[in-house]
Amino acid sequence: MALAEYFSKDLLAISQALKKGSVEEFQSVLNKTIVGIAFDDDVQKPEGKATLDLSVRLISRLYPKINFINSVERNKNTEALIKLSKAINPKIEITDEKPSLILSIGKIKLPKALSDIPVFYIGSDGWVIKFSTSSPVGSGDSLIPFAAGSCACIGASNIFRHVFKDFLTDVEFDKDFSLSLITLLSGKENAKQISEVKVGEFILVGFGAIGNGAVWALANTPFVSGQLTIIEPENLDLSNLQRYVLAEERHIEKPKIEIPQEHINNSKLKLNVVQKTWAGFLSEKNIWVIPPVLISIDNAKDRVGVQSSLPKEIINSYTGDNLIGISRHYSFGEEACVVCTYMPTEKKKSFALEAAENLGLLQLNLPNINMEFQMAGYLYSNKGADDQLLQWIADANSIARSELEQYKGVPIQSFYSKFVCGGILMKMKKSESKSGTVEAPLAFQSALAGILLVSEFIIEKAGLRTDKLSTVTQFFPLAPVKDQINPRTFSFPKDVTGRCICADQDFITAYKTKWD
Ligand SMILES: [Zn+2]
Repeated sequence: MALAEYFSKDLLAISQALKKGSVEEFQSVLNKTIVGIAFDDDVQKPEGKATLDLSVRLISRLYPKINFINSVERNKNTEALIKLSKAINPKIEITDEKPSLILSIGKIKLPKALSDIPVFYIGSDGWVIKFSTSSPVGSGDSLIPFAAGSCACIGASNIFRHVFKDFLTDVEFDKDFSLSLITLLSGKENAKQISEVKVGEFILVGFGAIGNGAVWALANTPFVSGQLTIIEPENLDLSNLQRYVLAEERHIEKPKIEIPQEHINNSKLKLNVVQKTWAGFLSEKNIWVIPPVLISIDNAKDRVGVQSSLPKEIINSYTGDNLIGISRHYSFGEEACVVCTYMPTEKKKSFALEAAENLGLLQLNLPNINMEFQMAGYLYSNKGADDQLLQWIADANSIARSELEQYKGVPIQSFYSKFVCGGILMKMKKSESKSGTVEAPLAFQSALAGILLVSEFIIEKAGLRTDKLSTVTQFFPLAPVKDQINPRTFSFPKDVTGRCICADQDFITAYKTKWD
């Protein structure tokens, strides 16, 4: 067995993407899969190097066996990649066996013996992502990492779709394409000669899965100069390794914020890390004039908090059900603000009801017991998981009570986060997967959201876009790239109900006083 320790979280993410299939089927498919990562000397170029690095970071988090196929004899380069794979999953198997499919970087000519398996050729040329299923696309030699990183995510998505094709309805693979990150359309628009981009001060809020993709991109952008503050209060949990591209096993239980410090070593980009929430950061700093904010947090409440503090510019990023979103907010009061894009359109379930549902408790139908009310009781006081709760969970999910003994007394919030959000319940049930409403994107999905977030910011600061784009760009990571459809850029309407803060005269006046 070479599946990762945090494999239950991988299962949760897989089941959410596929919507059908069982835990045992996923496990058996993965155990049979060997992913080949092929490359040649193109990985000496900055773009090829970045593509290879991110590919290894993505593939090692999910697949138990990798075969590195290098045109040069096994050299130092491969040794470093093996080391990186093992730091991500110490149980990973590096093998010389014939791969099931290949992700190919550079212009390597693959041996005839491999001509019968699918190959996904990935690469980039400056700001342009390149992809083919028939012939090598090569890597450019610019210092721009965004297309180079994006092609690794799209390659990983095609590998995923191929490996799990029997579980996907209407599965479609990418056809040969090139996509410019400047226009977000097919084509070759490019600006390869890039000199120093001075971005001034900016803030990245949230160093979660998207934040990891964002910092990976920033760490590979040597031409940016400025001052970056990263705000993130939490410590790293084992299950985070499933999709945090910069995280390794050694980071578990340590503050997440320590990771960016290991990676950003551009002397022109001053890094400041703050182990606080957004609200905690604001109240300590007491700042009024807030620099541009890149949002990579996973909850609507904090996004609203950032918008309410009225920075001049915000770029927001998010992942949803097989979806990546980027939204641009440069003129509060005139165009849709961040809050406009989160205005509730239907009544939201209480967290207690959602938790009871995700634990399977609603199926119990015990007379005179309201499970939403019961859960609220546990959550309100963060009570430990007791015999009664564990028995309910065991009964509702047909799990032996003894299997749950290890959780007795664990405070409910940490129990819920490990047991449900970490995918353990789903693994224990061994049944047809139902992941409920827990959000668990795949690694390539979050990484791509983070890369696009930073790419948008740099394009804006470098003034590379002649035509202004509409507010929102959405990308469907399990669907093929198609011009104007995937990714799709569209104008998001400003809230007209008058409930949004951008319709509030006090907020508008405050914004104008600050920035005019
Ligand atoms: Zn608004």
